[in-house]
Amino acid sequence: MIVELVSVGTEILLGNIVNTNAAYLATKCAALGLSMYNQSVVGDNEERLDNTIKQALSRSDIVIITGGLGPTQDDLTKETAARHMGFRLVEDMHTRKKIEEFFKDSIYTEIPENNWKQAIVPEGATVIDNNNGMAPGLIMEKNSKILIMLPGPPNELYPMFEHDIYPYLASLNNETIYSETVKIAAFGESQVEDRIIDLIDSQTNPTIATYAKTSEVHIRITAKNDSEEDCKRIIEPVKNEIISRFGEDVLTCNEKETLEECLVNMLKERHYTVTTAESCTGGKIASNIVNVSGASSVLNSAFVTYSAEAKMEFAHVEKETIDKYTVVSEQTAYEMAKGAAETAHSNAAMSVTGIAGPLGGTKEQPVGLVYIGCYLNGKVSVARYVFKGNREKVREQAVYHAMNNLRKMIISEDSSKN
Ligand code: ATP
Ligand code: MG
Repeated sequence: MIVELVSVGTEILLGNIVNTNAAYLATKCAALGLSMYNQSVVGDNEERLDNTIKQALSRSDIVIITGGLGPTQDDLTKETAARHMGFRLVEDMHTRKKIEEFFKDSIYTEIPENNWKQAIVPEGATVIDNNNGMAPGLIMEKNSKILIMLPGPPNELYPMFEHDIYPYLASLNNETIYSETVKIAAFGESQVEDRIIDLIDSQTNPTIATYAKTSEVHIRITAKNDSEEDCKRIIEPVKNEIISRFGEDVLTCNEKETLEECLVNMLKERHYTVTTAESCTGGKIASNIVNVSGASSVLNSAFVTYSAEAKMEFAHVEKETIDKYTVVSEQTAYEMAKGAAETAHSNAAMSVTGIAGPLGGTKEQPVGLVYIGCYLNGKVSVARYVFKGNREKVREQAVYHAMNNLRKMIISEDSSKN
């Protein structure tokens, strides 16, 4: 079924309020498996509202209108929609009583006259109680078209939608919608898209969409079918194809799992301990590891080796190495990873040395230049990056890549054992 949203309010058109109701409703409708092709915003103007309703009903099965249900002069959604659908307006005694009750507990001694307007409803419409305000929700059904009117204030709309409208819409639509996510580590969105563009283009059910996160891309595979089991069955081969195309760059297929959780779990399974020697990341890698519950079984100590002296003291970097190659160098990152692992008696270590900026960059060593070292059971590998973005972004990316490089090093250690 096709659903369409109409947001009523001049405030939205002027940019005085952000249309969060539309975002909320769109997400809910997608979860219900309803197709949405159009949304509109219209001001508090009868003629334009009427035209918008006309157009929406001509191309969609369900039209959800929010806003303009209140008691004031500019609230004309109900009157306009009822006239358009050919429904007479009548007083709803139940809503009238609810309004009385609402005012009983309020500071008003008298009920303002225009509030009774909210007890007027289209005859034959389903009236939905508003437990957080006075304007009820309304559902009009005619000639296979459904028009739903909901109050604008989000604190009234959300509970009403959850409690009454969501189940109503679900009962109209027997389909189930179900998604799975494949997370790809250390890739850009266009790189991911390039590799699966044929799948994206050729699939209709399930559909495939990519979502870019910092240093990570999530591929979401969404199926519509009769049951969750049927959805899973059609998602499975597509998911396997995607996994085979990305190999070790697949971080996880668990929607909730983060890189640090993956890494900590991999270390735990192998009974490995880990440490860090961090310069520009200032302890962020260690902090991310500690965020994972159960981190104490893999992390004993970690080092923030910000100065050259600290790099020498805690990570055993040779003075000659720093003098010859500088602190931001492949050689220093190498010795930091190895030295930190030795100091902490760990199986694994991550080291980071770089220039997060905005100051300190040179032509040879630009802002964003970061060397990341990983140590694993006697082996060391170092990678060089030039990250883009401000200081925070550079540090964030360095943290991500350090953890991901160690993750990949563990995978390649596993495969060399087999
Ligand atoms: P009221 O009884 O308060 O007049 P109403 O149903 O007539 O409610 P509007 O007058 O259109 O709704 O909007 C009332 C308030 O609800 C707005 O000032 C705004 O704070 C919020 N609101 C309305 N529409 C939206 C929207 N699309 N997104 C987010 N908030 C909204
Ligand atoms: Mg209003």
